[in-house]
Amino acid sequence: MKLSFYGADHEVTGSCHYLEAAGKKIFIDCGLRQGENAKNQLELPIAANEIDYIILTHAHIDHTGRLPLLAKQGFCGKIYCTYATEDLCDIMLRDSAHIQEFEAEWRNRKGKRQGLPLVEPLYTVQDAETILKSFNPIPYEKSVAIDEGLEISFRDIGHLLGSASVTFKITENGITKTLLFSGDIGNINIPLIKDPVFSDKADIVVMESTYGDRLHTPPENYEQKLADIIEETFTRGGNVVIPSFAVGRTQEILYFIRIIKEKHLVSDNDFEVYVDSPLALNATNIYRENYSECYDEEALDLVSRGINPISFPGLKTAVTSEESRNINFLPNKKVIISASGMCDAGRIKHHLKHNLWRSDSTILFVGYQAEGTTGRAILNGAKTVKILGEEIEVKAKIAELPGISGHADKKALIKFAENINPKPEQIFVVHGENSVCESFATELKEILKCPVTAPYYTESWDIATVTKERNGKVIESYKPSKFETEETVFYKELKRQGERLQSVIAKSKGYANKDIKKFTAELNSLIDRWS
Ligand SMILES: [Zn+2]
Repeated sequence: MKLSFYGADHEVTGSCHYLEAAGKKIFIDCGLRQGENAKNQLELPIAANEIDYIILTHAHIDHTGRLPLLAKQGFCGKIYCTYATEDLCDIMLRDSAHIQEFEAEWRNRKGKRQGLPLVEPLYTVQDAETILKSFNPIPYEKSVAIDEGLEISFRDIGHLLGSASVTFKITENGITKTLLFSGDIGNINIPLIKDPVFSDKADIVVMESTYGDRLHTPPENYEQKLADIIEETFTRGGNVVIPSFAVGRTQEILYFIRIIKEKHLVSDNDFEVYVDSPLALNATNIYRENYSECYDEEALDLVSRGINPISFPGLKTAVTSEESRNINFLPNKKVIISASGMCDAGRIKHHLKHNLWRSDSTILFVGYQAEGTTGRAILNGAKTVKILGEEIEVKAKIAELPGISGHADKKALIKFAENINPKPEQIFVVHGENSVCESFATELKEILKCPVTAPYYTESWDIATVTKERNGKVIESYKPSKFETEETVFYKELKRQGERLQSVIAKSKGYANKDIKKFTAELNSLIDRWS
């Protein structure tokens, strides 16, 4: 029973965990990294055709985006997820493949003029279509034996339509362990979908920590705040541009705009709202159709009264790229919702190009902006940003509407961990930026008084004995025996951190093993200086 970490370790994107259990090789999520290091760390510990199963927590591309690449590399196993996740993956993986193909084409067109060799897309639409054939959806709350000694079950984690935490019950060599992967833990009161349901049994927990360092302060009246921003921007004569994740966030914003229109919260109630993202439109259709089982009470109530929760007069959709381009040449003041949510891909780039330099427009951020993305740069106050090869001045009003996060805040994350009874043998904190996952792990350890660690990329653990491995060799046990005092555990941890620090320094200074004396001397002088 071995668990290795191959993505979203000390960062928030590229989720991927590798489980070897009951003689099978299993991946939990296989997402793409986003931001400036997107193309690094895509390699996996084994060849794609050796993977038996992939279990998906939800459809977001940072949890699923590498799947078509696996198809290209010969994956022939099975993928398990919920029904809504399968349907969302159907549109999202095709879309991701389109982007890969488009970008390769664009680079090749540019590269040709410079005599550069041709680049291949990471994967193609055909690869996406191939992987979609491996999907096996199962309902929430149903324990399914996928193989001998391997049972899985999904529980609604309230992050996105179809999102789930996944529990494994593994039996190997007479030992049974329960392993819980939180997936992305949803916030409460997200429009349309249900609140997260927490699990109460697990020996080993792998949990996210995106907002492990902050508390959400939800605006008392979200639709009023959104209406105020729209009103104020229209008064200035500009447009409201909302970079939004196509799936989930876009539908939530539509939900609030429907309320704004219903309550006449903006003077010009006939204002037009453009959804300009083919993916967002497809997703909106999925949200509208099939998944009343995922809807919360308010949404179900609207549906039962014949009201579409995410539709209203003045809602316009841009399907073709010509329709998309035309939006910016229309003289009317409008709200434009477009993807990608972090501004690095898709049609949002055109809308930013046309509105960022306009002091009468507003760019409204409604979602998380990862480090290294254009969205984060704008939000951090960059004076100019490079978009579609052009340096664009940022003169528009930059606004943010927090509190509608798809992720649980620190308090809810702690609650998620506290809900597990008896305490887990080990908690792994992943899916958080470097300092956030570390500080959250430390705090959680204090509160729960059980072992918590934030693993690094490629770190491996034997989860039957709860020991960390390196190069196949067990280097340290984390499981304090009942005879150990807290002090002993503290010094063990101190020693572990010291060893880690030593190896980081040795690596950064480029010492080979034979330079050990020189290295020790340098380390001693460093310690002298620090103490
Ligand atoms: Zn997510």
